[in-house]
Amino acid sequence: GADIRIRHVGVTYPNGFTALRDVSLDIPAGQMVGIVGLSGAGKSTLVRTINGLVPITSGTITLGDHELRPAGQRQMASRELRQLRSSVGMVFQSFNLVKRTSVLNNVMMGRLYHNPAWRVLLAAWSKDDVELAMQALERVEIVSKAYEKAASLSGGQQQRVAIARTLTQQPRVILADEPVASLDPPTSHVVMRDLQRICSDLGITVLVNLHFLDLARRYCERLVGLRAGEVIFDGPVADASESV
Ligand code: ADP
Ligand code: ADP
Repeated sequence: GADIRIRHVGVTYPNGFTALRDVSLDIPAGQMVGIVGLSGAGKSTLVRTINGLVPITSGTITLGDHELRPAGQRQMASRELRQLRSSVGMVFQSFNLVKRTSVLNNVMMGRLYHNPAWRVLLAAWSKDDVELAMQALERVEIVSKAYEKAASLSGGQQQRVAIARTLTQQPRVILADEPVASLDPPTSHVVMRDLQRICSDLGITVLVNLHFLDLARRYCERLVGLRAGEVIFDGPVADASESV
């Protein structure tokens, strides 16, 4: 069955601008989906609706047992929203690390949803938490940097730390919003390969927004093309024509 079910979703921002119209997608568990389109097409809005970061104004989004609905309809309790967010890891273009602290402490932030906040803030980790973090760092091949300051790492390494941080969340879905937009081409390939491996080895569903069709073609199984807030293509990578 579908892991993420997006049904007739629309997003109109408070200023009246409609960024998504009637978007419907079924995304099976463990699929790697590239969302492509020009700047302003609605890619970022779409991924942000899935963890409730951007409220939808029509339609529904179902993620496992959780259903997101527009304001005015029955809303999730804050506890349920927290549960949903803990199962969805986010990766951003700008990495969003705490630069002055260690790589390990950054990766531990992913445990925030699974621990009382004081533990994370005081870096009072349990043995299991540390083990999870180290495993996550191994997966992105950056374990040797665990005790270095995040700021001392290259952009590509910082993005891999951000990916490791989502892994310690033990998410079912990773949403990556232009994860390689600020990286050079060779580094972009490393980061995309990491995401691809995480998807295939761990069965985590990955939705990744990409500017560049060649990266999407090379690393994703399925492409969703957006234009002006509407889905204009949805299918296996092999079927994607140059026009997407
Ligand atoms: P993409 O990720 O494809 O570049 P976005 O989802 O960021 O597209 O933006 C889609 C459109 O929605 C753009 O025209 C953008 O300016 C607009 N937009 C994004 N966020 C907001 C907001 N908070 N309020 C109003 N308009 C917004
Ligand atoms: P990105 O390029 O990473 O999608 P943007 O620069 O488009 O980021 O947007 C940065 C922030 O500004 C986002 O939170 C987005 O929602 C908001 N935003 C974008 N366009 C508009 C807009 N036209 N009106 C209000 N907020 C906007």
